[in-house]
Amino acid sequence: MIPNTNYQNLKDSYLFYNISQKIKAYLETHPDSHLYRMGIGDVSLPLCDAVIKALHAAVDDQASGATFHGYMPECGDPKLRKTIADYYHRRGVELLEDEVFVSSGASDELGDILDLFGRGKTVLIMEPAYPAYVDANIMTGNEVIHVPAGKENGFLPAPDSDITADVIYICSPNNPTGAVFDKEKLQQWVQYANSINAVILFDAAYEAFIEEAEIPHSIFEIEGARTCAIEICSLSKTAGFTGTRCGYTVIPKELVRGEMNLNQMWVRNRTTKTNGVSYIIQKGAAAIFTEEGQKQIHDNIKIYKENAACLMEALDKLGIWYCGGKNAPYIWMKCPDGMSSWEFFDYLLEKIQVVGTPGEGFGACGEGYFRFSTFGSPADTKEAAKRLISLLGKNKI
Ligand code: PLP
Repeated sequence: MIPNTNYQNLKDSYLFYNISQKIKAYLETHPDSHLYRMGIGDVSLPLCDAVIKALHAAVDDQASGATFHGYMPECGDPKLRKTIADYYHRRGVELLEDEVFVSSGASDELGDILDLFGRGKTVLIMEPAYPAYVDANIMTGNEVIHVPAGKENGFLPAPDSDITADVIYICSPNNPTGAVFDKEKLQQWVQYANSINAVILFDAAYEAFIEEAEIPHSIFEIEGARTCAIEICSLSKTAGFTGTRCGYTVIPKELVRGEMNLNQMWVRNRTTKTNGVSYIIQKGAAAIFTEEGQKQIHDNIKIYKENAACLMEALDKLGIWYCGGKNAPYIWMKCPDGMSSWEFFDYLLEKIQVVGTPGEGFGACGEGYFRFSTFGSPADTKEAAKRLISLLGKNKI
C-alpha cells in the first residue's frame, strides 16, 4: 500500500519550530531573562463569565436523565444555528438557519471543506497567508497559485483576470497582516469568482475585531456572494475558545456548481464524517451571543485592542510602516534598516527580549516584514513597546 504521496510535497513547517528553538537557546544562555512574547497567536484572557456559567449548567444537565443529551445533530444544535443566523441578521445579513453549520473550529473546517471540491483543483491563495491554507491543499493534491501581496497594495491584492482558479481563499481581517478588505475590494473578488465559476472560502476568524463601521464582517454583506462563497468562522479569538473549540460555517443554498448544491453536499459530509459538536460546548458557545456574553467578550477584545494601540503608538513614533492593529489583533510592520525577517527576530530577542513572528514564515513575500500579536499581557505589551522605542528610536527621536 502506498499512502498519500502528496504529503511528500509538504515543506517542513519550520516557522514556530525555529522560533521555539531560538527562544530555547536564548534562555539557556540567559536563564534569568523575562521574554516579552508578542509572537503568539493564542489568546491569554480566560473565558467570560456568561460562557463559564453556561458551560457549568450544561455539565449539570448531563448529570440527570431528564436533561441529559446524547449525540447532537451533526450540523449543529438547531437553537445555536438560529442564534448564529440571528447574529448575522442584526448586521443586516439574512441567512436560513440550515445555512449555518456548527463546527469544532475554523482549522478543522478549512481542511475538511476541501472534500466538497474533490482532488486536483486549482486554488488561489493570497500571501502572506495563514500557513494551514497551503498545507491543507498540498495534502489534498491541489495546485496552489500563490498570489503575492505587498506594501504597494496595502497587502490587499485585487483579482487578476488572467488567472483562473477553482477555489479562492480570502482572510479578512487578515492573519498575519491585519489588513481588511473594504466592500468595494470584496465586490471585485465576488464578481471575479462568479465570472470564473470559482468558490471563495472566506475566513472570518477575526471579524469581531473590526471597529470601523464601513468594513464588512461577512462576505455575505457583498452583493452576489450567495452564489460564490462559503464563510468559515471561529469563536477562538472572538471569545477565547482556542482550547474550548467551536466555530461555524455558512454555506448558502444558492451555492451550486455543476448542478450540485454545496449546502446539501455539506449536510451529507457532516452526517457521514462527524457526530456533531458536544452539547456542553454548544451551550457555552450560545452564551457568547447573549447580550451579556457580547458585552463580556467585547470587554476582553478591548484589552487586546489597547495592546494594539500601545504597539501602534510606538511604531508611529518611530515612523515605521505597518498595517493592521485597528480592525485586527495583528500588526504587520516593515523591518527597519533593510533587515530580513529573521535578522530582525534575532535582533529584538538579543537586544530587548521581545519575541515576534518573522513575516517570511507566512510566504516568500512576507520577507522583510514582522508580525506582532496583541494577545499578550498588557503589562508585557507596554514594556515591549517602550523597549522598541528605545532600541529603534536612537537615531530617530
Ligand atoms: N483562520 C485563521 C486566519 C487563523 O488565524 C486561525 C487561528 O489562528 C484559524 C483560522 C483557526 O481557528 P480555530 O482555532 O477556530 O481552529
